[in-house]
Amino acid sequence: MKATTQSGAVVEGKAITRCTVDIGETCVECGKACDFGTGLFVNRIPAELPAQEYGTTLDGYLCAECQLEVCVLCLKKVLDWSMDPSLGVVCDDCGGEV
Ligand SMILES: [Zn+2]
Ligand SMILES: [Zn+2]
Repeated sequence: MKATTQSGAVVEGKAITRCTVDIGETCVECGKACDFGTGLFVNRIPAELPAQEYGTTLDGYLCAECQLEVCVLCLKKVLDWSMDPSLGVVCDDCGGEV
């Protein structure tokens, strides 16, 4: 069956329960394949996100690109960051200076 991610990508998957669609090795956000050999394999993490279809949850992966957050200090998009209670997202490079 087809489902739509929050960013509007249409993904193909199989329903494993009434409300969960297993989209395999596909990013639950951007809908890109992130299986071995795509370049998105290394930093992917297992993830579940709601689909745009009401009541549907996508079960797949979050690719490295979709895990990027903007550091509040250097304003770079970074993969390695932690949540500072007062500042917000701080990358590991800036984290040591806080
Ligand atoms: Zn992605
Ligand atoms: Zn930073």
